Amino acid sequence: MRVLVVNVGSTSVKYNLYEMDTEARLAAGRVERVGTADATHIHEGGSDRIDGRDVTGALRAILAHLTREGGPLPDPTALAAVGHRVVHGGEQLVTPTPVDERAERIIEECAAYAPLHNPVNLAGIRAARAVFSQVPHVAVFDTAFHAQLPPHAYSYAIPHELYLEKGIRRYGFHGPSHQYMALSAAEHLGTHLSRLKLITCHLGGGASVSAIEHGVSVETSMGMTPLEGLVMGTRAGDLDPAIPMLLAKQGMAAGDIDELLNRRSGLAGLSGIGADFRDIQQAAEGGDPRARLAIEVFVHRLRKYVGAYAATLGGADAIVFTGGIGENSALVRSKVCEGLIFMGVALDERANETKRAADHGGIVEISAHRAPTKVLVVRTDEERMIAREVMRCVVGPTATIRSVRARPIPVGVSVRHVHLSRADCDALFGPGYELTKKRDVTQPGQYVTRETVDLVGPKGEIRRVAIINPLRKQTQVEVARTDAITLGVSPPLRESGKLEGTPGLTLRGPAGSVEIPSGVILAHRHVHMSPDEARDFGVNDRDVIKVRVDGDREMTMGDVIVRVHPEFTLDMHVDTDEANAAGLTSDSVVAFEGVQEPRE
Ligand code: ADP
Repeated sequence: MRVLVVNVGSTSVKYNLYEMDTEARLAAGRVERVGTADATHIHEGGSDRIDGRDVTGALRAILAHLTREGGPLPDPTALAAVGHRVVHGGEQLVTPTPVDERAERIIEECAAYAPLHNPVNLAGIRAARAVFSQVPHVAVFDTAFHAQLPPHAYSYAIPHELYLEKGIRRYGFHGPSHQYMALSAAEHLGTHLSRLKLITCHLGGGASVSAIEHGVSVETSMGMTPLEGLVMGTRAGDLDPAIPMLLAKQGMAAGDIDELLNRRSGLAGLSGIGADFRDIQQAAEGGDPRARLAIEVFVHRLRKYVGAYAATLGGADAIVFTGGIGENSALVRSKVCEGLIFMGVALDERANETKRAADHGGIVEISAHRAPTKVLVVRTDEERMIAREVMRCVVGPTATIRSVRARPIPVGVSVRHVHLSRADCDALFGPGYELTKKRDVTQPGQYVTRETVDLVGPKGEIRRVAIINPLRKQTQVEVARTDAITLGVSPPLRESGKLEGTPGLTLRGPAGSVEIPSGVILAHRHVHMSPDEARDFGVNDRDVIKVRVDGDREMTMGDVIVRVHPEFTLDMHVDTDEANAAGLTSDSVVAFEGVQEPRE
């Protein structure tokens, strides 16, 4: 399946074409100076002047190039989708989203937070939908990877109404890069993402750092807009909010303050040389005091964040660097990691100086041999990450996406049922009665019997409830909450077999009734899996995980208990209420999303 990823900027259109079965990049290029008479298409074969007076013209040239005779895309309808990088999705668009009128409207609304980017991204989407008219278009958001930030991380300490009414909160950016770094680190370390605590540093023209736990971004340095946080090429990052107010009181216009903090600050403002780190580094080596200060402030700010995020995570398994500066500046990495031995960080300075991620398959380790916290340098690939996200959207959870080791988990919907003890079976069906098999259930050795029982509660009864054999030590009745309401009992949410303190009920069979003193539960949702499957997912018996449910009632289900046993077959058990709420049937699958709480 082929995916074309398009990244439309104010004056450029970048594109990458992937074959997703192997993730091979079939083509890459860019059109520069879009909107001028000098628009130029730069591709593997060289460069051409094109009619790129607008984005549509640039996209037409790209389409013609890809579909040329002998080109990588003979038929444009063979594309599985076109993926678009969009900077801001706000709180509404937090997953890769098929582009339709609603999505376009929300992207437009989010332009309030990303005025430089979202309108341009949207214009690109509209043009691409016209040029590549027969394939689905999917938007992937820079903000989406941070969508699960907890409220204490995304809330600013200003009146809460400003969040509720205007959506003023931390959103975070560079999502595809942080996600790509996290996946690459997990793959390199041979550990599932769900078991890692990572601090990922994207240091390019823009810069941000994230704290990632169980594969989820739990803190990030950019805020409502990409202005907050680290020192960047031309952006100030963190500063006292009284400073712009002071400037405003002294007569500076809002637009000028915006321009000052976004375009004339950061490394450029401090150094007076410009935003390019190489130039600043060279000037610093030549003794330029402002260039030195710029580097010191840049590094100090980043170290401060690394330390803070180590505290947020309770330690880190790895610190990951990427972006033009993160990937190339040994000086920055060395200064940031200096003196972090208290948190297990020690660099192999020689490796830091000499090893390049590009020469080692895109990732290289530069920490000292026995240092507990690894330091990694990654060549980020945001486009590839976007292509993976597009596949997740187009193909759904059955997609095999390299690096995401999860496989789809089949769902079994447990209708209310009873497990009987020998004594209760005798009382209901007659002494020594042998229950007979009607059909197998997914777990080996268990089956539904032809016989049924009636449940009689204080408020009502439910007839002909299934029995699951073999017999057990104690009778257990598993119902959904709706059933419990019908019966008039209040069972707790419990794992199978944990029946202490649970309410009882009357069971009625053909040979008599029994009143069980306890044993009625709402079954806690759980996933069965074999030890091999657990290894693949990177989970252990009794971990609590989250799974993603796609479809009309898309949701994430947390509090799913993992149960590992050599005889278990991979499936997730939910009750009928849960299945109905999530639109699940016994033909559905869900996707593993991460560990919520590891077993103690
Ligand atoms: P963008 O965020 O615009 O994609 P990049 O990730 O390419 O930017 O990063 C650009 C920054 O990386 C610039 O400040 C550039 O000077 C810096 N950079 C690139 N190569 C080196 C290098 N060899 N040493 C130090 N800095 C570098």
